Amino acid sequence: MNKYGLNELREQFLVFFEEKGHLRLPSFPLIPQNDASLLLINSGMAPMKPWFTGEQEPPRKRVCTCQKCIRTGDIDNVGKTSRHGTYFEMLGNFSFGDYFKKEAIAWCWEFLTERLGLDPALLYPSVYLEDDQAFEIWEKDIGIAPERISRLGKDDNFWEHGSGPCGPCSEVYFDRGAENGCGSADCAPGCDCDRYVEIWNNVFTQFDSDGAGVYTELAQKNIDTGMGLERLACVCQGVGSLFEVDTVMNIINKVSEICGIAYKHDEKADISIRVIADHIRSATMMICDGVLPSNEGRGYILRRLLRRAARHGKLLGVAGPFLNDVCETVIGENESAYPDLTGKAAFINRVVRIEEENFGKTIGAGTAILSGLISQYNARGDKTLSGADAFKLYDTYGFPPELTVEILGENGMSADLGSFNEHMDAQRIRARKAREALGDLACAGVDLGLDNTPTVFTGYESCAETCAVLAIVTQGELSSSIRAGDDGLIVMDKTPFYAEMGGQSADFGTIARDGAVFEVSGVSQNNGGKYLHHGKMLSGTINVDDAVTAEINTLRRNSIMRAHSATHLLHEALRAVLGEHVRQAGSQVEPDRLRFDFTHFSALTKEELADVERRVNGAILDGLPVAVEEMPFNDAKELGAVALFGEKYGDRVRVVRMGGDFSIELCGGTHLDNTAKAGAFSITAEFSVASGVRRVEATTGLATIESLTHARAHLAVLSGMLKAGAPDELEGKLEQNMTMMRELRSKLDAAMSREANGEAQRILTGARELGGLKVITAVIEDVDVDIDKLRQIEDTLRDWEAGVVAVLAAEKDGKITIMAACGKAAVEKGVKAGELIREICSICGGSGGGKPEFAMGGGKDTAKLRAALAAVDGFVLRATTSP
Ligand code: ATP
Ligand code: MG
Repeated sequence: MNKYGLNELREQFLVFFEEKGHLRLPSFPLIPQNDASLLLINSGMAPMKPWFTGEQEPPRKRVCTCQKCIRTGDIDNVGKTSRHGTYFEMLGNFSFGDYFKKEAIAWCWEFLTERLGLDPALLYPSVYLEDDQAFEIWEKDIGIAPERISRLGKDDNFWEHGSGPCGPCSEVYFDRGAENGCGSADCAPGCDCDRYVEIWNNVFTQFDSDGAGVYTELAQKNIDTGMGLERLACVCQGVGSLFEVDTVMNIINKVSEICGIAYKHDEKADISIRVIADHIRSATMMICDGVLPSNEGRGYILRRLLRRAARHGKLLGVAGPFLNDVCETVIGENESAYPDLTGKAAFINRVVRIEEENFGKTIGAGTAILSGLISQYNARGDKTLSGADAFKLYDTYGFPPELTVEILGENGMSADLGSFNEHMDAQRIRARKAREALGDLACAGVDLGLDNTPTVFTGYESCAETCAVLAIVTQGELSSSIRAGDDGLIVMDKTPFYAEMGGQSADFGTIARDGAVFEVSGVSQNNGGKYLHHGKMLSGTINVDDAVTAEINTLRRNSIMRAHSATHLLHEALRAVLGEHVRQAGSQVEPDRLRFDFTHFSALTKEELADVERRVNGAILDGLPVAVEEMPFNDAKELGAVALFGEKYGDRVRVVRMGGDFSIELCGGTHLDNTAKAGAFSITAEFSVASGVRRVEATTGLATIESLTHARAHLAVLSGMLKAGAPDELEGKLEQNMTMMRELRSKLDAAMSREANGEAQRILTGARELGGLKVITAVIEDVDVDIDKLRQIEDTLRDWEAGVVAVLAAEKDGKITIMAACGKAAVEKGVKAGELIREICSICGGSGGGKPEFAMGGGKDTAKLRAALAAVDGFVLRATTSP
């Protein structure tokens, strides 16, 4: 047997099938393209479905791949079985109406025994119960003794998925030896124990199933094979678990190094180490393919994997984020096969770090609450967390439910999932009601009594249109007319008004007839695709069935188009400056103002912002022609059009191209015919709106010019105030003023400290000798006295005289402030300012405290101030004479 590394094995397989006339294709991305039935690719054949069904022509009738796969269905097995990962690679050779069973079986055998040198005595084929043809090939062509070929039932050896192409399978099992078996007398390939592992599965798609038990032979028969690369590597490398395969073991070692726990010493720790290694393999590959953590769909799968890995890190005692370090090892082990990992390494690293940091915050609060709940439940001997509590953890604290279940499990508890789901359903209903209420507002809660044909939108070509009024709503009711002064909405057969959608604001304008004018100040669409023109009747009356002239405000429309076309240029510029990972995450287009949200992980630097702005303005100055074309979705994709992630598109799409291929986007909005008309583009703000999502706000056309005019006027006002001749002189003037301020400030400080010195000197002359100390009590009678000044005097006295006990008071607006300072010698003798202040402040109805050297307090009873100060001597005497 040849001992191959995982990366070499992959290459061996692909080269072998290239030699057999197969076209080698790179792995398809983990995100399915045009297949809404699947969140993530989970097998080699999944991305090739259209080639199997004949819907599309494959590039060649023989294809081989090594496909990245994610199976989150296996998540609970990970770390516990030796053969499951959430991420693995599947080797596959495929035939689309070309070779069939005979070749597939022969090549499978040749690869395993001759190319890899596996011992034929350890390999056991299986076939489907009724598949005599495959049985015969194994027996006659390959020469396997019939008792070594198992016939297995539908569960194991018939591949089908609802209706459609399906067929029998033939697997190859590898015998890991009796020592790994269950010891039962009938242990054989197909047994659930660890002795015989399935390494290769050949599917012969031979029938078309109607889903009701009728199978018809397919004219075009296909071969779909799948072999887990990691499992094959286990066999070739003679290791018992896919976690011990060379590249995966390096990741395990990295995790074990970070957490300082040796692998294979403690089963519980090993599970955690394996979970982290596996989940970070998945996460790294998913992020590389464009998945970002979020709260739904595949983004949630990624989030769940990262959170689970983070939590197992905590179980291992790792403090602080560390998963991104594991990513680096995953990238290192895989970049030879997947070179795009290298360019995206920094990005992947950041996504993982931020997600882990954010999770750290959530998990901290949630774990504490859950531990509290667990103790409460334990105290009353209750082993089931109520659905309400589980829901509250999720809904209020964002604590992931699967984590709640996992932590409960570790504490011998469970959650009432039935009740939890009821809470979830109730919340979904509440959310839907809230949405419906919003929808009702848009239709004013009125059944329009119209059919469901959408209003024809003519606004791409024209700004004014003669239309027929189909329905009118005023005062929340269907009406046959609308009169001057009434608010309401009008529905017509067609309209040039763009309804608010896709982030673009609605058109405003008028609907008019013979002196009757309805002013449109908002347009929305109802579920039936009817355009609802909201507004007010300014004069006259409009009736249902009237022919009216609907005319949009072109100034507003033009400024919206400026902002929208500039948004496409901005999107392109961001991708050019920041990288291809930039994806639109939201967009708002208003007259000459735009807001664009996109995926990116750090604040843009000043230089990046300037570069983006320059590129957009460059594209505007180049006067790129804008062309709009409708075409089939696939043609648009061929062109490289930027489609929005997760957005559903119809068969025909609208493609907006600027400057040929400078920018190509699928978009239903209204656009300029030339980018030059956008005018000046200016970025006004850039900030974060969510983890991993940034927002740029910008202006175009008149708004940019207005802001320039405004800034200029502002500068002029400032120049006037500072008496600068021209704005150019502003900086010099300001510099001068600031220097002057600094000088004045230091003069003022010097004068204040001189004054304090004088005051201190005067006060010191009034000191009394008491117990070897110099005791001073004084009320400062200055009208302007403030705390700073008192403090300065106290500090000076303490500097001058180590034996000083100085108590100064000031009275202002009926409030007393008292400070006490004790020099070093005084403190040594036992006189502590903090205690002194506490005592004397209480005499004048207040409180205070501080350190032995300095303390401060206050009081309200001004009449008692003298008495309070008189108590100082007594305090000093007591303090200095007490033992
Ligand atoms: P099992 O019963 O072991 O989960 P499966 O029947 O789900 O396997 P298939 O759907 O036939 O597997 O996938 C083809 C091959 O992919 C398998 O023979 C195996 O080598 C590999 N494979 C499947 N699931 C995993 C996984 N979670 N981790 C690693 N390899 C896998
Ligand atoms: Mg499985």
